[in-house]
Amino acid sequence: MKKRVTLTFPQLSIHMPITYRLAKDFNVAANIIRAQVAPNQVGKLVLELSGDIDQLDAAVEWMKTQNIDVCLTSREILIDENSCVDCGLCTGLCPTEALTLEPNTFRLNFVRLRCIVCEQCIPACPVQAISTNL
Ligand code: SF4
Ligand code: SF4
Repeated sequence: MKKRVTLTFPQLSIHMPITYRLAKDFNVAANIIRAQVAPNQVGKLVLELSGDIDQLDAAVEWMKTQNIDVCLTSREILIDENSCVDCGLCTGLCPTEALTLEPNTFRLNFVRLRCIVCEQCIPACPVQAISTNL
């Protein structure tokens, strides 16, 4: 079974080897989808966890005891490349420059790591090429 989770680490737990502990103690594989850790700040990690359902639940409960905030749903922006006409309207609204037009090709470029899922781009798209997974 797979579960996607968003973890928010308090400052003190940022250096915890979380993926190692999940694998060793719970036999849960953790695929890192996104990581944001800034010095002296909380860290955020989006993981896709794979394993036996009971072990996944045990792993989630263990993370909670480590003062890690565990959110089981993770909203993501989806871009339908077949619908997108590369008009660039969404790029002007994106506060993190996750959406830009490639200077050489004028094609839309989406950098998921920069996206904070503010959803400002969704209503801007004239062809409804932008949506979320949830
Ligand atoms: S959701 Fe926000 S941050 Fe993400 S691509 Fe759209 S405008 Fe940019
Ligand atoms: S607004 Fe829509 S069609 Fe235009 S570049 Fe962005 S995703 Fe593509």
